[in-house]
Amino acid sequence: MLSLILSLSLTMPTMIFSPLPETPVITQGFGQNPNVYAAWGYAGHNGIDFGVDEGTVVYAPHDGVASVVDDGDSGYGLYLVISDTNRKSILGHLSEVTVTNGQKVYQGDPVCKSGNSGQTTGPHLHWTYKILKNGTVQNKENGYDGAVDVTEFTRLWQDQDLHHNATYTEFANEYLAMSFPDNVYLENPNRTA
Ligand SMILES: [Zn+2]
Repeated sequence: MLSLILSLSLTMPTMIFSPLPETPVITQGFGQNPNVYAAWGYAGHNGIDFGVDEGTVVYAPHDGVASVVDDGDSGYGLYLVISDTNRKSILGHLSEVTVTNGQKVYQGDPVCKSGNSGQTTGPHLHWTYKILKNGTVQNKENGYDGAVDVTEFTRLWQDQDLHHNATYTEFANEYLAMSFPDNVYLENPNRTA
């Protein structure tokens, strides 16, 4: 486990950041609610949700180029994609995007504001994270179209005090109790709720 984390950090230019300041509360973990996400062909929730008020400033988790998409009342609603050759983030259900399509953004930049757009049950920020190699999404057959669990990174934030602590609501308990032997990203024996 440790060696994997170390090797990952070596292959990525910089540690990704939490997109939210202070203590983001995770209201839906990665892989939760498989019944709901089967409709999209996913094995479960393909990212993590943070329960934050509409209008909360969201920061770029990593460098990349911005793509702004507005899907109206469907899917992620107003959302922002930040991608480079190594990784891609999707920040969904926004109320406002404060960067422009094609703009180069940098890790830690305020880039958008959270909201309640698209298909939601309340205001929150959705974050999907994918690892790319030469611009191609890796591990696309993992049941999440290549999305990986960033919760592991949130633990790293805690360990290294690089950014912010993460806490979990009771809604994440199901997720926290899961083990994912087929995907080391999703294993975290040291995690505490
Ligand atoms: Zn979500």
